[in-house]
Amino acid sequence: MPARDNSKSKETLTALRARLERDLERIEQDLENAQASMAQDINNEDRSAEIAAMAIERDMDLSTEEKIREMIESVDTALAAIEDGSYGLCESCGETIPDGRLEIVPYATRCVECQRRQEK
Ligand SMILES: [Zn+2]
Repeated sequence: MPARDNSKSKETLTALRARLERDLERIEQDLENAQASMAQDINNEDRSAEIAAMAIERDMDLSTEEKIREMIESVDTALAAIEDGSYGLCESCGETIPDGRLEIVPYATRCVECQRRQEK
């Protein structure tokens, strides 16, 4: 079997990782700002609605932050797999992950079927 050409995937993954890092930085900045203004306004009754809204936004940022961290982890796993030659193989069943899937989800570590089973 000819070796898979992973240069394109590597490029995509590296770019994706850089973007995720930027997103993460922005969200961390947002969180810091929210934390600071919430600490300031916590005793101000007039602004309680605003503070509640900020708290919701902060929670959303926190879950986004978590998702981005998970994605960075997946991207790193994929990049490591490219290095050791296991990229594009499903980590559950060992089958080749179709190119079409890798084009859409370059950090996929499972085939669609195993992913679906995992998410259940
Ligand atoms: Zn599989």
